[in-house]
Amino acid sequence: MKKGPSQGLALLGMGQLALESWAVAHGQAAFRGRQIYDWIYSKGGRDINGISALPRYWRQKLSQDAINIGRSEELQRYIAADGTIKLLLRTSRDGETIETVGIPTTHRLTVCVSSQAGCPMACRFCATGKGGLQRSLSTGEILDQVLSIREALNRRPSHIVFMGMGEPLLNIEVVLETVQSLTDDFGISQRRITISTVGIPKTLPILAELALNRLGRAQFTLAVSLHAPNQKLREALIPSACIYPLNELLDDCRRYVRRTSRRISFEYILLEYVNDEPFHAEELAERVRGFQSHMNLIPYNPITEETFQCPSISRIDRFRKILERRGISVSIRASRGLDKNAACGQLRHRQSEEGVK
Ligand code: SF4
Repeated sequence: MKKGPSQGLALLGMGQLALESWAVAHGQAAFRGRQIYDWIYSKGGRDINGISALPRYWRQKLSQDAINIGRSEELQRYIAADGTIKLLLRTSRDGETIETVGIPTTHRLTVCVSSQAGCPMACRFCATGKGGLQRSLSTGEILDQVLSIREALNRRPSHIVFMGMGEPLLNIEVVLETVQSLTDDFGISQRRITISTVGIPKTLPILAELALNRLGRAQFTLAVSLHAPNQKLREALIPSACIYPLNELLDDCRRYVRRTSRRISFEYILLEYVNDEPFHAEELAERVRGFQSHMNLIPYNPITEETFQCPSISRIDRFRKILERRGISVSIRASRGLDKNAACGQLRHRQSEEGVK
């Protein structure tokens, strides 16, 4: 059962200056705002009552006014043999469930964050898309995912990818505000942040301008999910692609590269016998020829609701070699936490079928 909406103000998502101003507006000295900032971002505090440095009467007043940090509750935790961790979180605001993933390696901890609860894009191979969109997340709710993985693994995240639930460009203002906070409040440089999109008409120019104007630069990586080398197959896999022809998407990508001077990373999920034949690779190579880009091949992680399968290693390798022969820079994403419960949206889907307690 979902919680009723929390009426109070959540402080997570406000930066140091904003918290200082907020404290002053509440009749306190600015340094009280810095104490709250330190509690939220450095100590990972979950409860305003825990900030013993604040005067007791003020803490009581904040509690009465339902001012809270805005941390979520962990409902479920799934840890794969390779250390990949997936959390199912319940938001403090209204009890929506969202997933976040931590991917640790020797030198990195990448957090894959959700930007929306659910997703309206309905990609056929994705469990999240099956349930539609509930709502977009706030900056605080996205940052909460980063804090939750930091706590779960007791390690500072080094890289952030907006590749969890939701289409980031449908929540573009909040996503860019979060990028700003990740650099200012978590010390994660823009170059270690990736924003992934399946493509929303007319938004790539907006993304470039907003990033340049608000953040001063657009140094994060933009990852564009192609998943097919032609419009017909793309529409079959991504229904929302019917309003955004592949040619137009690629033209917008070229403009984005010219405006930001940043290379684009293309994503291509490999589905056995669907889009992984040699002629698909040839057509894909032709599409992105002369592009300042990189192709990231993603072997499919099966979900229970669909019959798509992951190609064999030899088929994946054949696809890669064709692209490389055509001069395209290619990498194959290593499978992490590979089982049916670990694909995007699976924990949440199962939880909603069982009913959130
Ligand atoms: S793959 Fe991404 S864009 Fe497509 S439905 Fe899933 S979450 Fe949404």
